[in-house]
Amino acid sequence: MALIVQKYGGTSVGDLDRIRSVAHRVSKIYSAGNDVVVVLSAMAGVTDGLIQLARTITNDPKKQELDVLLATGEQTTVSLFCIMLESMGYPSKSLLGYQAEIVTDRAFGHARILDIKANRIKDLISKRKIVAVAGFQGRDAKGNITTLGRGGSDTSAVALAAALKADVCEIYTDVDGVYTTDPNICKRARKLDRISYDEMLEMASLGAKILQIRAVEFAKKFNVPIHVRSSFNEEEGTMVVEEDKDMERLVVSGISYSKDDARITLAGVPDRPGIASLIFTSISEAGIVVDMIIQNTRKSGLTDLTFTVPKNDYQTAMSIQKEIAHAIGAEEVLGDEHIAKVSVIGVGMRSHSGVAAKMFSTLANENINIMMISTSEIKISCVIEEKYTELAVRVLHNAFGLHEA
Ligand code: ASP
Ligand code: MG
Repeated sequence: MALIVQKYGGTSVGDLDRIRSVAHRVSKIYSAGNDVVVVLSAMAGVTDGLIQLARTITNDPKKQELDVLLATGEQTTVSLFCIMLESMGYPSKSLLGYQAEIVTDRAFGHARILDIKANRIKDLISKRKIVAVAGFQGRDAKGNITTLGRGGSDTSAVALAAALKADVCEIYTDVDGVYTTDPNICKRARKLDRISYDEMLEMASLGAKILQIRAVEFAKKFNVPIHVRSSFNEEEGTMVVEEDKDMERLVVSGISYSKDDARITLAGVPDRPGIASLIFTSISEAGIVVDMIIQNTRKSGLTDLTFTVPKNDYQTAMSIQKEIAHAIGAEEVLGDEHIAKVSVIGVGMRSHSGVAAKMFSTLANENINIMMISTSEIKISCVIEEKYTELAVRVLHNAFGLHEA
């Protein structure tokens, strides 16, 4: 028999009927002889509602108190869940983050898990109780309540699975699994049976909606297999696991896209040491994270520098760059908010060539201009005009045969 950690997201526990069906699902697995630890999110919309409530008082509520407030969302669901299970005749016990001894740092609002002493949970399991742990929360060394950042229940679940050495961590959500691309824009998108941790991390722009990035990093570090699946049916979902030889046979496993960035170009920059450092130090001092960077050299001792920043930071970044351009005597600063980044991802790229060429020619056939290119070991990204995003995703999905199993 297995030890299974299951996590149910906000929509899966959105009302009492849904909590009842989660209780049914859990009770079946328990009755088959397995030990089950259930991690729950707050009911859908509750965390947002609590944040709004605090913001009615002030725009900048004290982070530490906000965490105390937000933790009540998960407290509600674990208690209701155990009341439900007990009423159905199953022995259970709810634990809040601090009771489960989930110890974090003091970064209120986005705390990191440092340690989990799973003794109390193990003890309850040995007494054949179904244990329900409040997701998204822990405590710091002094016992203050902390939260792990939005979507943090995923990380709670994976961390508990690692601490308990569970056989699997099942993440129940409102989608069937991880797809080759966004099914909303590509009808031929296909559910993947398996994906590696690294690919899942690269698919962040799709995957973040399904799994908190930190949860995947945690799973990779402790080698916890994650099963992403729907709480509304019995279908198998997607296994997120360690990479194996088999996975390399597939050159590309997914296409992701993001419309979250904007592009800035400094044209006619004097080509001498220290300039790039000046430009990017000023950006980072403003707390802005740069994603892609390209620099080319002109014959005349001048260079052009292009980079991308989050759309939210675009205005700030532009005004900083205008000042710098003036100071260093650059010709002009150009900006473009209407861009998108489209990426092809696959561990098979480590051993296969020709992926970049195929990507570029596929986009060229549709007359889509590539503005920037960046690569990692398992990903190639192109920046294109935003209006072509959906088209690009569809033609690339086709070109790499992702609709075929
Ligand atoms: N309730 C929290 C949120 O909405 C944590 C979670 O659902 O994972 O972000
Ligand atoms: Mg989530």
